[in-house]
Amino acid sequence: MVEAFAVASGKGGTGKTTSTLALGMALAEEYDVTVIDADTGMANLLFHAGLDDADVTLHDLLIADRDAAVEDAVYDRFGMSVVPCGTSLTAFEAADPKRLRDVVAELAAGTDVLLLDSPAALGSKSAVLPIVLADRIVVVLQPTVPSLSDGLKVQEYAHSYGTETAGVVFNRVRDDEDVDQIADQAGRYFGGQTLASVPESDAVRAARRSGEPLLAHAPDDPAADAFREAAARLDVRDGDEHDVAERFRSAVVPERV
Ligand code: ADP
Ligand code: MG
Repeated sequence: MVEAFAVASGKGGTGKTTSTLALGMALAEEYDVTVIDADTGMANLLFHAGLDDADVTLHDLLIADRDAAVEDAVYDRFGMSVVPCGTSLTAFEAADPKRLRDVVAELAAGTDVLLLDSPAALGSKSAVLPIVLADRIVVVLQPTVPSLSDGLKVQEYAHSYGTETAGVVFNRVRDDEDVDQIADQAGRYFGGQTLASVPESDAVRAARRSGEPLLAHAPDDPAADAFREAAARLDVRDGDEHDVAERFRSAVVPERV
């Protein structure tokens, strides 16, 4: 079985990478989980997962003449298989985003859950690919109307390619914010459910600084509880791995948005 999720949002800094690793660790209690940093232009998952010094990364798989094997870019970390991406601008420019299809197709054959940490903007080919290829998106939003509006654009785009919405994670929620009212609006406009409301938390920042996912660094923090709740609500589907791999392999990459 396998289901591919793109963790997406309309803007950077909403907590996609934090959420990808937190959901990944929570799901890894039950499933074989593979996390991919598909935010190839603004990669930072490596810093959240203690992989700053990874030798081979996704960039090496996306650059034609580097000849790296997919398994060389897969690292066992925190109970998950993690594929980090490098941060070099030169490598990003040399990378062929279309090659991500084959990489993901290969990884899909050997895992239960694929989580694609996705770029924020929808402005380029590499940015839309994870959203186009995933089965469902998890939209990470701050509980404000502008953030909701950005998230809706991402969802509209995803739906136009047949990608469904798994749900919304409200992140960095402060006590003074009326998340219920926003969640109400989100419920009306988004196809998916509210998966969780994750509080603004010092532990989340501390986890990043220490190069560990939140659920490893501060498993008892309320933010960690909220992410575990979100994961429990995801209801992973058991797609056929060959079908999913084939869908990725044969996907047509949109030329422009
Ligand atoms: P994105 O991948 O969407 O750009 P990140 O997950 O890297 O976002 O988060 C951006 C910054 O916000 C990081 O420094 C992270 O530690 C911080 N952050 C994310 N979620 C929270 C939270 N719930 N509470 C406090 N800080 C957070
Ligand atoms: Mg990120």
